[in-house]
Amino acid sequence: MTQTEMIWKYQEAEVELEKLKKELDNTPERQKMKKLRRVLQEQSDRIESFKSGIKEKEDELESDLKKLETLLSDYDLEQDDLNIMLSDEECTAAELTESRKAMEELLERVNALKKALNDCRSWIAKTTDAIKETYSKGSKTKRDYEAAKAVVETERLERKPVIDKAQKEVERIELQLSPDILKRYKAIKKKFPNPVATITDNRCSGCGMSVSMSVVKKFSAGNTIMECENCGRIIC
Ligand SMILES: [Zn+2]
Repeated sequence: MTQTEMIWKYQEAEVELEKLKKELDNTPERQKMKKLRRVLQEQSDRIESFKSGIKEKEDELESDLKKLETLLSDYDLEQDDLNIMLSDEECTAAELTESRKAMEELLERVNALKKALNDCRSWIAKTTDAIKETYSKGSKTKRDYEAAKAVVETERLERKPVIDKAQKEVERIELQLSPDILKRYKAIKKKFPNPVATITDNRCSGCGMSVSMSVVKKFSAGNTIMECENCGRIIC
């Protein structure tokens, strides 16, 4: 067998091996397993994002509580001032109004802060529930994933002999190829999945362009390895 015939056989063996690997990679069970793995990842990402959200809210809660404490003590001080003013005969009505207004404003801020604190607490409670729910969904996904994985492993073992045989065939032919043609094949393979093309009606089966007569003649003449002038595929 010439090197040209051999490289064609090599491509056929590679195509067969790739086909078998692809089939194994695309079984419904393997697709299912991959999907479940994605779902598991999403669930775990969601839990992480919930947790970091809770952490932020807890920090917010802590700082709001400190603010509330300050406001309440300001309010007490204002209340003391007002009491003093009320017993002070020289205190004017305008001053009293001013003090009451300040207290009202403080109270408004206290109420707004209390509302924010409640919102924050209920958000944390809700998110904690969501985490629990995601965990419980996650454990079901994990079980389904493990089951699919077991089936996938069975499929792999079942198909292993055929794939191994195809792999050995590729290796067997590879040993018979000259290092030069193999190197060229592998270089072209980086660009095209099928590095070897045939000539039909003076056209390259890879790129469809016509091949010059000089190439066709040289090719017909003997055992030299020719490449398509247009795409660079090895012509066989
Ligand atoms: Zn070509």
